[in-house]
Amino acid sequence: MKFHLDTAEIFVPDGSPIEQALSRTTHLCIAAHQDDIEIMAAAPISACFQQPDKWFTGVVMTDGAGSPRAGIYADYTDEEMRRVRNKEQKKAAMIGEYAAQILLDFSSTIVKDAARPEPVADLVRTLQATRPKYVYTHNLTDKHDTHVGVALRTIAAIRQLPADQRPEKLYGCEVWRGLDWLLDEDKVCLDTSAHENLQTALIGVFDSQIAGGKRYDLATLGRRRANATFFQSHAVDTSQGITFGMDLTPLIENPNMDIADYVLGFVQRFNADLADRLKRMA
Ligand SMILES: [Zn+2]
Repeated sequence: MKFHLDTAEIFVPDGSPIEQALSRTTHLCIAAHQDDIEIMAAAPISACFQQPDKWFTGVVMTDGAGSPRAGIYADYTDEEMRRVRNKEQKKAAMIGEYAAQILLDFSSTIVKDAARPEPVADLVRTLQATRPKYVYTHNLTDKHDTHVGVALRTIAAIRQLPADQRPEKLYGCEVWRGLDWLLDEDKVCLDTSAHENLQTALIGVFDSQIAGGKRYDLATLGRRRANATFFQSHAVDTSQGITFGMDLTPLIENPNMDIADYVLGFVQRFNADLADRLKRMA
């Protein structure tokens, strides 16, 4: 398995041979940064945990060198930060018993540049080696440019595959912007009720990001709980936690579909719902 950068890594927590480790994948998450996977993809990580026939693989596209740093990490160089963030990502892969953790090590600048072919090419290779049934990435209304860049590269890579080799489902998930605003019929509910202890550990290992006072651990678990409770106003909670997803599958079933039109469709339905309620209640 050869990626564009010599510094790219494939970490296999259980030590299986790489080809075998990757080919067992059923659920694949493609994320921008170290810790995004654990924030947005708790449901598939849980679904695969200790299941002999389901395996989760994570892909982190960027090198982590530009990460914010504070506390004991305040004086770390970019290179030291890159190393610590990759080490944290491997700890999470170990705790979550991932099939494999791929670290592509691109700079954010390259991932954000649609003209650069390398990120898409590495994702195509990853998809061919893993053949996942389900793919999770950032949602297209996220407010972080690199996240949206990763989601667009993911769609571009899947579109390059022959139709019979594409995953069955592609979901865009929550990190920098929740998806509570989607109409309920547009929401994909990913249940995170199971293994809350494991979810806490999975985010807790990213000490370099939390140490500066950004409590991603508490915020992420809180968002899951809030999503579950505020989802239905008239029913008791049936889930202890939910992460919301945006179904991006139509964009990979039809490679010619306009991406912006598809995403703005969610916004237009939200807009129409607001206008209708205000009119009815006036
Ligand atoms: Zn991120």
